Amino acid sequence: MCGIAGIVAHEDITAKLVDSIRNLEYRGYDSCGVALMNGSGVISVSKNVGAVDEVSEKENFLKMSGNIGIAHTRWATHGNVTKANSHPHSSGNKAFTITHNGIVSNHDNLRTELGKKGYKFKSGTDTEVIVHLIDDQFKKLGSVESAFVNAMRKLEGTYAIAMITAHDKGKIYCSRMESPLLLGVGSDANYVGSDFNAFINYTKSAVFLEDGEYAIVTHENHVVKKIATGKTVERDVQELQWDLEMAQKGGFPHYMLKEIYEQPQIVHRALDIDGAEIREMAKAAINQKNFFITGVGTTFYVAQIGQYYFSNYAGITPMVISSDEFRFLAQVDSKSLVLAISQSGETYDTLSALRHAKARKAKTAAIINVMGSSMARMVDHLVLQGSGPEICVISTKAALAQMIVLARIALEAGVMRKHITAKEAKTKEKELRKLPNAIDKLLNEQSAFIHAIAKKQSNIRHWLFLGRGRYYPVARESALKMKEVSYVHAEGMPSGFLKHGTIALIDDDLNSVVFTPTEDEKDLFKLTLSSAEEIRARNGYVLGIRFKTKLKQKLPFSDEIVLPKTPSFIAPFLQVVVAHLLSYFTATTLKRNIDRPRALAKSVTVE
Ligand code: GLU
Repeated sequence: MCGIAGIVAHEDITAKLVDSIRNLEYRGYDSCGVALMNGSGVISVSKNVGAVDEVSEKENFLKMSGNIGIAHTRWATHGNVTKANSHPHSSGNKAFTITHNGIVSNHDNLRTELGKKGYKFKSGTDTEVIVHLIDDQFKKLGSVESAFVNAMRKLEGTYAIAMITAHDKGKIYCSRMESPLLLGVGSDANYVGSDFNAFINYTKSAVFLEDGEYAIVTHENHVVKKIATGKTVERDVQELQWDLEMAQKGGFPHYMLKEIYEQPQIVHRALDIDGAEIREMAKAAINQKNFFITGVGTTFYVAQIGQYYFSNYAGITPMVISSDEFRFLAQVDSKSLVLAISQSGETYDTLSALRHAKARKAKTAAIINVMGSSMARMVDHLVLQGSGPEICVISTKAALAQMIVLARIALEAGVMRKHITAKEAKTKEKELRKLPNAIDKLLNEQSAFIHAIAKKQSNIRHWLFLGRGRYYPVARESALKMKEVSYVHAEGMPSGFLKHGTIALIDDDLNSVVFTPTEDEKDLFKLTLSSAEEIRARNGYVLGIRFKTKLKQKLPFSDEIVLPKTPSFIAPFLQVVVAHLLSYFTATTLKRNIDRPRALAKSVTVE
């Protein structure tokens, strides 16, 4: 996690640097800090616990000055959330200052060694070890570059590091090992960032570092080299396709709501992804003996939804494994395809699953949102979902787009395997094309009603989300949304599972939500309603999320959100959007920190 930013320019960069970490805040927001160097090589550091604006005001960030600086917004892994543990960290003589993202796994040994040499530690972080190590190497070698590289070679674990030093004034040294880092190339300044939000206000030209590389950046040029050999690497400058406008709130009170409302447009984009890319992925999936889909958190549930679409429309059941469990369960070999789902393309657990797969000679694939990310560069087959920047820590639009991409791949695979006809696939594709309008209508016509239900039920502490068939992973994903943004306990499970134990929990402080299939899905529809009846028979509250039916009788729901008649192929996706709104409005009623819920981070780049 965490966000790193760095700028080297001719003029004062203080305000730009503070903006840069504000734009990275969704990556971590326990504490933050900046380090700026003036012309005579004096480095000032200012940092504290809290969000960027809060700390900036308290610590007077904007009264600082300098032409070169680094900054950080933290998601703590080692050491509590305190001022002393906030980054940047400096060497005792303040000649070296660094920021770090990742975990140094051999920090204990290094700390002991450096302690013996007289180094004093002011923080409980693994990061502080790095800066003393660099200082120690500098004393030995007398060259900043050699000291930096030698220190990197001694680190185990993961890191993205940016460093400034009084011994080599106009430069930012940075490196990358399994934590993201890229350079921004401007006309009068150069930049370093954990992702492009750090510098997209200033430049769209970027240079992506690979694992095991370091770079030295001045205001007018940069050089990329290998940590292991010190050899220079030629790396092209790439033009980023996103702009700042796409990443701003556009009048919405929260990014989460803005991103929920972007979904019609994002589904269009997912549907506009070139058919050739989708076909290539489908071919890769069916050509291998074993087909795995992996993700973690929301993307695990996205993968599960994909599993049902593959089963229902392509006649194959991919193995879906949470990426944090992947290496303990998946028997992958050269006859396997492992398809990873990740918004950022940097999720540590999912990267590990892909590495595990690659090491066993499996083919790899990914559906991700961020171009140039680690996963984008390592897999054999890639689909970029094109959902634009997702700033809210809670994934809404990106997750929905991934579901759509998986449904499209499943349809192609179904035709290739002759499980469905090309004509059937065409019909389903046409139905998918109706989804953006259907979501638009839902957002316009149902938001106020969903808001009212969320308000009315906001005192409830426990929720059960139930669904069957393709609606079952929808229920699980919806429960996760409720937990992460509103801090209300929610569990998602197959509705058929309820009677096997969980039904014992039904009481006044537990609400159930039943994701009801369309009337056309006859068995599924009937069976799901029986579960709702079972809860009602025990006086439990049931919120039904359902589609219009021809039935005369009242359905067994305490409250219901009724959506227009919808083709069953796209019905689960509409319910996903209802669940987004339900958790958003529950969280706003409870006055939660919507875009940055406690303890979370956008891209989880630690193990
Ligand atoms: N391990 C470092 C710390 O706890 C960096 C964590 C991060 O990536 O934000 O300070």
